[in-house]
Amino acid sequence: MDFNNTARAFHSRSDADLRRSQFLFGLLQHPWLVRLGKPAVEAALWLRLPIKGLVKKTVFAQFVGGESIADCGPAIQKLWDYRISSILDYSVEGKETEADFQRGLDITLQTLAAHTKFDGLALGVFKMTGLSRFALLEKISTDAALSAEEQAEWERALARFRRLAAYAQKEGRSIMIDAEETWIQPAIDRTARQLMQEFNQERPVVFTTVQLYRTGRIEALEADLQAAQEGNYKYGVKIVRGAYLEKERERATQLGYPSPIQPDKASTDRDFDRAVALLVDALGTPGAPSGHSLVVGTHNESSTQWAVDCLAKNGWTPGDAPVWLAQLYGMSDHISYVAAHDGHRVAKYLPFGPVRDVLPYLFRRAEENTSVAGQTGRELSNLRAEMNRRRAERKSS
Ligand SMILES: Cc1cc2nc3c(=O)[nH]c(=O)nc-3n(C[C@H](O)[C@H](O)[C@H](O)COP(=O)(O)OP(=O)(O)OC[C@H]3O[C@@H](n4cnc5c(N)ncnc54)[C@H](O)[C@@H]3O)c2cc1C
Repeated sequence: MDFNNTARAFHSRSDADLRRSQFLFGLLQHPWLVRLGKPAVEAALWLRLPIKGLVKKTVFAQFVGGESIADCGPAIQKLWDYRISSILDYSVEGKETEADFQRGLDITLQTLAAHTKFDGLALGVFKMTGLSRFALLEKISTDAALSAEEQAEWERALARFRRLAAYAQKEGRSIMIDAEETWIQPAIDRTARQLMQEFNQERPVVFTTVQLYRTGRIEALEADLQAAQEGNYKYGVKIVRGAYLEKERERATQLGYPSPIQPDKASTDRDFDRAVALLVDALGTPGAPSGHSLVVGTHNESSTQWAVDCLAKNGWTPGDAPVWLAQLYGMSDHISYVAAHDGHRVAKYLPFGPVRDVLPYLFRRAEENTSVAGQTGRELSNLRAEMNRRRAERKSS
């Protein structure tokens, strides 16, 4: 794939759009600014200073579809004009009450129902911490006995997850469960497996997520595939590198346990690409598909190319493979637009939610862009190349 084709990558973007992106990614190159910006924006919102408009016009416009599903309509359509699907992601984090969880459930159900209103909606997605209490997931992950009250709370959370899966099944859709911090992940993994066992008998309705920046995940994937075979259900999995690198390492150091994260980036990259090969093989071939399905969630060009090569090796043509190449809205358009143009199934997470509630998501993206060597530089050099190309084109015409 020609990831340098910036004309294709930015075809839908005006010059002003490109300048805004360049300004934003330029800011993200300064880690101190992101560190300072986080408390400053939170304080300003808390003091009710009128900065909501500014946030909406800048970071929000780059990384978020809007405050509601209806707001996301134009972004969904704009992507779908280029045959890029959207994954509506209610990105409200850090909630703790039953009322918040009920709201999370209602809105996620609406994201699944929205396919009757908009073209180009791919899978749905949710975070278990959006529908249940973090501390409860943490306790379950340690296998500690729950009190009667906690058990009842967990039953309510399970009922919410099952409601989403049942609705997705009824609507002919699928829903992914995001992966989060390792100290709540055992509860998430176990529940995801139960849901797959229950709802994936005929097709992958529920997708789990595996983070390859963790050690031992190839073995975990093999165990998942084995469980699907023994349980006679279809495995749906999204693979990602992982978004909580610094938090994971800090906690491990603080509490004095071995870091669950790979020793270096090269080990993460190696396992990610091994996972791609393993899972593409598990899909079978066009003549004998296994019924499993894979989402490759990455902004890494060589991993994307590797996934496409593995599919081609097994005889899949772009678009026919039960695989989504997925990126986040506002990032790596050079991968999304080029892959979609080449006929691959491409989808972008399209986050939405009230400005204040989406801030944790936005700051994670900002931190990721400052801490991940290369990502911001890559975005900036693509933007610069396209602006230069347009300038040269204007000059010559
Ligand atoms: C569609 C989609 C869905 C996602 N869903 C989730 C999810 O459910 N849960 C989740 O945690 N994340 C999720 N992410 C974020 C993802 O985990 C990555 O943080 C992000 O995509 C950057 O990784 P990359 O593969 O795109 O690219 P790259 O830029 O090649 O890799 C950066 C990543 O490599 C890893 N890394 C960097 N330095 C080191 C090091 N020194 N040692 C070890 N590893 C290192 C980190 O994971 C870092 O984020 C999702 C991303 C996408 C695109």
